Amino acid sequence: MVKSKPVYAFEEADSKNRMLLGGKGAGLSEMTRLKLPVPPGFTITTEVCNKYYDNGKKLPKDVMPLVMKNIMNMERKTGKKWNSTKNPLLVSVRSGAAISMPGMMDTILNLGLNEKTVEGFAKQTNNPRFSWDSYRRFIQLFGKVVFGVNDEKFDNVLEAAKKKQGVKDDSKLNVKSLKNIVSEYKKICEKHTKRKFPDMPNEQLGLAIEAVFKSWMGERAVVYRRQNKITKDIANGTAVNVVTMVFGNMGDDSATGVVFTRSGHDGKRELEGEYLTNAQGEDVVAGVRTGKEIVELKKEMPQSYKELSKACMKLEKYFKEVQDMEFTIEQGKFYLLQTRNAKLAAESYVKTSVDMVKEKLIDKNRALTRIPPEQLEALLHKTIDESKIKKFKQFAKGIAASPGSASGIAVFDVKKAIELGEAGKKVILIRKETKPEDVPAFFPSQGILTSQGGKTSHAAIVSRGMGKSCIVGCTELQIDEKHNRCKANGITVKEKDSITINGTTGDVFLGNVPLIKPKKTKDFKTILSWAEKTKKIGVRANADTPIMAKLAREYGAKGIGLCRTERMFNEKDRIKIFVQMIMAKSLKERKKILEKLQKLQKSDFIGILKAMEGYKVTIRLLDPPLHEFLPDPYDSQKNKDKKNKQLLERARELAEINPMMGHRGVRVAITHPEIYRMQIKAVFEATAYLAKSKVDARPQIMIPQVGSVEELNHIKNIYNEVKDEMEKKFKRKFKINFGTMLEVVRACLTSDELADTAEFFSFGTNDLTQGVYSFSREDVEGKFLGKYMDEGIVEISPFQSIDESGVGNLMKIGIERGRKKQKDLEIGICGEHGGDPNSIKFCHSANVSYVSASPYRIPTAILAGAQAVIAKRNAKKSK
Ligand code: ADP
Ligand code: MG
Ligand code: MG
Repeated sequence: MVKSKPVYAFEEADSKNRMLLGGKGAGLSEMTRLKLPVPPGFTITTEVCNKYYDNGKKLPKDVMPLVMKNIMNMERKTGKKWNSTKNPLLVSVRSGAAISMPGMMDTILNLGLNEKTVEGFAKQTNNPRFSWDSYRRFIQLFGKVVFGVNDEKFDNVLEAAKKKQGVKDDSKLNVKSLKNIVSEYKKICEKHTKRKFPDMPNEQLGLAIEAVFKSWMGERAVVYRRQNKITKDIANGTAVNVVTMVFGNMGDDSATGVVFTRSGHDGKRELEGEYLTNAQGEDVVAGVRTGKEIVELKKEMPQSYKELSKACMKLEKYFKEVQDMEFTIEQGKFYLLQTRNAKLAAESYVKTSVDMVKEKLIDKNRALTRIPPEQLEALLHKTIDESKIKKFKQFAKGIAASPGSASGIAVFDVKKAIELGEAGKKVILIRKETKPEDVPAFFPSQGILTSQGGKTSHAAIVSRGMGKSCIVGCTELQIDEKHNRCKANGITVKEKDSITINGTTGDVFLGNVPLIKPKKTKDFKTILSWAEKTKKIGVRANADTPIMAKLAREYGAKGIGLCRTERMFNEKDRIKIFVQMIMAKSLKERKKILEKLQKLQKSDFIGILKAMEGYKVTIRLLDPPLHEFLPDPYDSQKNKDKKNKQLLERARELAEINPMMGHRGVRVAITHPEIYRMQIKAVFEATAYLAKSKVDARPQIMIPQVGSVEELNHIKNIYNEVKDEMEKKFKRKFKINFGTMLEVVRACLTSDELADTAEFFSFGTNDLTQGVYSFSREDVEGKFLGKYMDEGIVEISPFQSIDESGVGNLMKIGIERGRKKQKDLEIGICGEHGGDPNSIKFCHSANVSYVSASPYRIPTAILAGAQAVIAKRNAKKSK
């Protein structure tokens, strides 16, 4: 391998190497190579970033000399001069990691200005007001990013200056006021740092580069990486891009904007985006002013629009992917400042995938791999019931930013949204705009509504990524954050008032509008059918009711991998009977009550087996400890009530120190065999019943918490007895598979023995993870897992994605030993990992027969299964 250099000019970098250059740097160098108009500049690599940290946060010695060499290069190309009093070269210093992390790291604009160059810049632009304004913006950004000065301090000075001069708009400030502001701004910085504000561009540049590197480990960025599972092998450090400044704020023939080459929202093949005349880039991105639709540009600046469209086509063709671009027009001259693969809403991913295959831009494999599997879930979410909409009053309209509808109570405060959302309330978060630090409030909210910003604003992009419905730029909404209320069209909405947002149309309604389940589009079906054909691994559902089973089947599940029988006992009318059973004083009494339960279970099984006709339904017998069904014995309220005395006594008797490793699953069945006997009977009865009406029911019985073949054999005997009894009763043979979960460490290690009895296995990866780590999930997640992740001890929660080297290895042992006995043994996995794309990829490579996931995650699992096949194929090819 060629040793990489610390610094690359855009035209000399290998733009394929995103890990080294970061996405922004790679995009800039690629556009430069494609002869698109990019201002000259260079990239300092991510390797330097890592060295910077290894070096105790000091730039390696060779970096600044190379940087200065490249600055000279830029001088040559632009004809401008670094630190010149006549024609100064100004630059932006921009962060950019291998994966785009919008708004998470820092960028500094207008660097190179000082008391002298600002005069040169005034001459160069023939506009002193403009150059002093640029200078004051620079000091503000530099102060904030490099020194960590609070923005508010600068804002106060700005407000005071406007008052003093008697103007309302920033743009009306005159040179005198601006000079004053500059000197005040510097004082703020100097007070903060206790040193003189750096005037030499070289020093400014060095400090700015370091600040960008530092922002990689900034809190925002670290949290974002954790939430988006961006690990070191995906993005390791940020690069720094130094780019010649161009100005979209040099008058009415200047503009700046962002554009998607196709609609990021529904995938239509038309430019989508917005721009502002006489503005700088960050104004559009931050949504400070709501921009004009990109089609307007066609009329307003036709020549630039033409260049933009041409660039869009060229880049899409080159990257074979929808692009998200930033452009700036400086006095009629068009520049590109960034391009990256666009983050799209689920609907847009699906449509553009199908379209681009039709256009022969990509093949089906690429069409499948470019869709983030977890996003498909968004397409299964609710939309407004249009037939009921007349009864509701429309409150306002904004820009549709992320599809799907949501209703809930209005909350204007980020902290409150988190509080209420986590307490189970349905929350619609309403803000003027959102910032990265607001992201934690997105998770527990149903939807997001902002009064400012466009389709590419922070709120829109983040919501899309999470599959939450979102409306932005709802300008008629006047938000009064102080008093927790908002007003539009003469109506006031206060905190906790119900509202409904439709992120597909931008409509906001008063009240809770009924929502309906989505229809699957033709393109969605097309994608799923391609994925279905490609994938190898089976996909089944975790479903406990006929409704969920039907839903899962509709979404493409071929069977049920986990039907939790205890969920059926938890229903209102049943829990009472179940408790009676636990409280029974004699075996005789218990058996009598079990007969009642048996009837109920039988009808449950009939429903679910029918809904999954023709496919296997894995029925897991009772799993939790019995005391889980009884009241909390230490509940002081209940203790006062005499009626509860016996219940509580029994609960105390059954209570355990560590119930998850206690008397549960097969262990309960060994002390109370009558319970499993009842459940097994119910399965046979249901099957016999359905056979009469020619329903092809395929139940299989699964025993939880098994750790030894002796335990399993013990239950197998009961099964055999019931089977004999049933075959006599119904005068027919039954073929109902008997299998076990592998969720106890010992079971995995002795799976060869278990395979003598079991006809199938299913990994319970939740319990297995708890066992392998000796982590009690609930305790760990609340207490220290977060810290582990902050410290990098654990990169992704093992409860979210299978821990391959620990749990995964144990699974491989379980599979290998089991299949040594039975070559074609069916081995699946159930539990939340079954719907996690990374875990599915692992399962595919470990030859797991199927994954089982919640109904809403079935399309995700199917697509992830296909992606696993394609990835393996591609890896083989590249070998
Ligand atoms: P982010 O990664 O947050 O998008 P960027 O580095 O792209 O940050 O920069 C923030 C804003 O500044 C963008 O709107 C970008 O277009 C603008 N910008 C960056 N560099 C320049 C430049 N050299 N000239 C003009 N505008 C710039
Ligand atoms: Mg950008
Ligand atoms: Mg379990």
